[in-house]
Amino acid sequence: MKDVLEGFASGRSRCMYCGDNQGTDVDHYEPLAAAPLRTFVWKNHLLACSGCNSHFKRDTFPKGSGGVPLLLDPTVDDPFDHLALALSVGRYAPLTERGEATIEICQLNRDILSRGRQVAYDTLTVILEAWIRAHDSGDDGKMVGLEKTIREQPFADVIHAMLRYAHAPGAPQLFADRSHLLPILADQRLRARLLS
Ligand SMILES: [Zn+2]
Repeated sequence: MKDVLEGFASGRSRCMYCGDNQGTDVDHYEPLAAAPLRTFVWKNHLLACSGCNSHFKRDTFPKGSGGVPLLLDPTVDDPFDHLALALSVGRYAPLTERGEATIEICQLNRDILSRGRQVAYDTLTVILEAWIRAHDSGDDGKMVGLEKTIREQPFADVIHAMLRYAHAPGAPQLFADRSHLLPILADQRLRARLLS
């Protein structure tokens, strides 16, 4: 089961909650204490680091009105429908009640994660600048290598936020300090390679 989950995880088997650490544990999205009958349900299993699994999330599983789980389920929910990532500071802001609960349960804005997302944003900027140089000089092998490097990075949420926000109405403001990235992030080949 862990081998299969590692195949679903981003980058080098990163934790499906924080995107930073190695996913070492098989976590039950709906804790066994709350839902023992879901013990062997495939989609109730996620790859998590021991910090997210045992220290932060544990058996916390609040429900909102109508019994809807407040913790986002990455197998069905798109986190960006519920969370906004401020790329320059690496912190999440909630867009919905479920987003707010998920930030709290997983402590998504803990300092070590926000700093990591800032570093990822700067690292990806450098890689994308190299990618467009390779693109303009027709160096396909270099482009493929850089695309692989991006996919192997921790904090896969950062590149996904960049690709998504590049098409948002406020993109010029969101990328005001690095507007040269916008045409790179709009490149159809790059988007296809990274979003497939
Ligand atoms: Zn984690």
